[in-house]
Formats: sequence, structure tokens, C-alpha cells
Amino acid sequence: MSMWKLSAGTACVAGKKQLKTDVLPTTAYIMLGEKCLNNCRFCAQSRDSGARANMLSRVTWPEIPGQEAAEAIHAAFQAGRLKRACLQVVRNPQSWQESLDALASLTSESSIPVCISSTIDSVEQARELIERGAERICIALDAATPKIFRQVKDGDWTRRWELLNRCARELPGRASTHLMVGLGETEAEMVSTIADCLVQGITVGLFAFTPIRGTAWFDRQPPSIGQYRRVQIAHFLLKKGCSRTVFQYCDGNLTGINLPSEQIESLLADGAAFETSGCPDCNRPYYNERPGGVMYNYPRPLNRTEAEQAIVESEIFAVKTKSVERYCL
Ligand code: SF4
Repeated sequence: MSMWKLSAGTACVAGKKQLKTDVLPTTAYIMLGEKCLNNCRFCAQSRDSGARANMLSRVTWPEIPGQEAAEAIHAAFQAGRLKRACLQVVRNPQSWQESLDALASLTSESSIPVCISSTIDSVEQARELIERGAERICIALDAATPKIFRQVKDGDWTRRWELLNRCARELPGRASTHLMVGLGETEAEMVSTIADCLVQGITVGLFAFTPIRGTAWFDRQPPSIGQYRRVQIAHFLLKKGCSRTVFQYCDGNLTGINLPSEQIESLLADGAAFETSGCPDCNRPYYNERPGGVMYNYPRPLNRTEAEQAIVESEIFAVKTKSVERYCL
């Protein structure tokens, strides 16, 4: 029987672990395998990482026998506590078979939508995962540009981008990717890649680079909250149908948005722009943030004060009483 690693929050929702937290995951996060063949400089599971094997980003992942985990996830789905499952499969020689087996366990137990992030080299493999019950596949770009990709990951950005595009074309509505803010890209580069993804129908999950002890980039700084908020705002406005031409940049930084202030105000007022993005019902609580620390991604709806604060943190708007007012940097 293979062992599955569930994120600490997932294990709690599934009744396998006690956890004191103010927000629980709405997606079951499952990690299969450890010690990846890849060597992403930010990842606790990468080949040369000295980080603890039960870590991914900030999160610990207790191990549970696969069948027991699948049954517990099914029960939590039936009870309405979970809405989706996300299988993240570490690259190793067994990862394809592990992916198929885990997918079979999850889908035979329940009709929970499953998103799978495994090593996929062809559209045929992506199609096979969908045919075997996955609702979506995720091919993580992580880096916004080929140059950053070369610095931070193994492999070739362009090949991965082309595969992601082919999957999005041939499996419409089924392709997701991850993009990580703060690897050294400019805001203009990140927003451009997000816009390219959305045009192709690719769902984007935004992450903030998080330095993890034991990884190659542990001594680098995470992105400033201003940088992250500006990218979140651009991502959200693009999803709402705004053109990429409305964004104004200075030295690669987003400095203004060429839209009427009332329109921006109504789009940003409820704070949804600052909630975790990605596949439906994915909230990844405390994946990039410490409880009580900087909230890059809110795993729940924001209250009005939080929404106003997030808008101000972007440093392209000031909040005056009820209205968001633009000012020039
Ligand atoms: S967006 Fe969420 S559910 Fe989708 S692949 Fe990423 S972590 Fe998993």
C-alpha cells in the first residue's frame, strides 16, 4: 500500500490530525513521492535540497496509507468540507504509475474533481489522465520567462509553454499552471505571461516565492507585498476581461491602470483580487504565509478593512473613505 502525504490542513479536514488554525483548506492537497529528479532552487523536494522531506513550501505533510486517505477525503467531500483534490506528484521513475494509481483510488471512492500535477511530456499523457478521471491537469511554469526558468529550474521553458498551450487547445478548460512572483522577473514580464495564459484558456495559480531553509534559494527575499498586490490586481482585471494594454509600466514596474477609477473601485472593492487564485475552490491556506504575517493570498473572503488595506498595499491607489482614488507614483 503506497503512502500519501496530505498537507497538515488536509489531514485535519479529513479527520487524521488535529490542528489549530483559523482557515482550513477547501481542496485536499496530496503529495506523492519525495526527492524529485528536478532541481528547482526554491523547492523543498528538489534533488539537491537539504530541507525536511515532509515539507513543501511552508507546509508539512503527514503520511497516511493511500486507501485510508482516499476514503477520508471522500467522506469530507460527501460532507461538503472539501470541494476538490489536488495531486502533486514528485518526479521520479515511479511517478507515472503512482499518478495513475492515486487517481484510480480517488475517483473510485468519490466524484470529487481532481487536479493532477505530474510529469507530463505529451498531450497524450495529459489526455490519458483526463480519461482516467482527472478533471484538470497542471503543468507548472513557475517562472514567468525563459531566462528566469533557466536560473531557477531544470529544463526548457519554451517546451513546457508549448505543451501547456497544446493541452489547453486540445483539452479546453482542463489546463492550469502555476506562476511564482518574486523570482527576479519584472512585473511587466509576469503580467504579460499571465495575459498569454488567460488568452489560451489556461487557469493561473499565483504564488509568492517563499524562501525555505535547506533549499538553494533560502537566503533570497520574498517579493514585496506591493509587487505581489500589483500582480494580483493585474491578474484579476485580466480575468475580468480588461485588456493588457490598460497597464502602464515604468522600469518594468506596474505604475498605473488606464481605466476609470469608478470601474477599478467596483472591481476591487470586495477584495476577491487578493484571494488565492488557481483551480476552482483552491485556497491553499498559509502556503506562502505565516499565520499572523503578510497575507500574500487570502484563503477566504476579505473583510472591507482587509480589502482596502490590500488595495493601498499595491501602492498604485489610495483609499479615501468609500472610494478608491488613483494617484501617480
Ligand atoms: S491551483 Fe490549487 S488545485 Fe490547482 S494545481 Fe494549483 S494547488 Fe492544485
